Amino acid sequence: MDQKTVKASVRKMLVAIGEDPDREGLADTPRRVAEMYEEIFAGLTANPVDELKVGFELGHHEMIVVRDIPFYSMCEHHLLPFHGVAHVGYIPNEQGRVVGISKIARVVDLIARKPQIQERMVSEIADCINDGLAPLGVAVVIEAEHMCMIMRGIKKPGSRVITSALRGAFKNNPTTRAEFMSLVNSK
Ligand code: ZN
Repeated sequence: MDQKTVKASVRKMLVAIGEDPDREGLADTPRRVAEMYEEIFAGLTANPVDELKVGFELGHHEMIVVRDIPFYSMCEHHLLPFHGVAHVGYIPNEQGRVVGISKIARVVDLIARKPQIQERMVSEIADCINDGLAPLGVAVVIEAEHMCMIMRGIKKPGSRVITSALRGAFKNNPTTRAEFMSLVNSK
């Protein structure tokens, strides 16, 4: 990331909105924002499929669901955060290839860390797991709250956006899909 340009741009933006970038509270803000962007946009340079390289052929053939994985992302339309939880399910392939649960959470975390829209994020997670594990099927559901719907515009606090992406068995088999949905929705 070009930290120098980010810093200069934040300073310019502060001037443009009518602020004094040299006042005490703001003097260090361009540097802080640049460092923060490095962290919260780390997904721009990461290759999340690498997280799935270390797997195990356990011969497990049943559905695995990792629920309520928290994530924080940034809406590309307003550069305001959206955050919530992701639920990921997959059915291992013939060899029963699985990965540690933390790897699934790591994929969600990495894909979240860039400017984007929730619709693309859910598909990217599904495609990443499809590429990394070659499972019989993948299902991803994301529930999120968007600050751009709460702080501005229609101002609807408490509204949640739900998106899903289904691949393989979850797309083709209604029973499989229903089993996943009931596991995700059970309290
Ligand atoms: Zn937005």
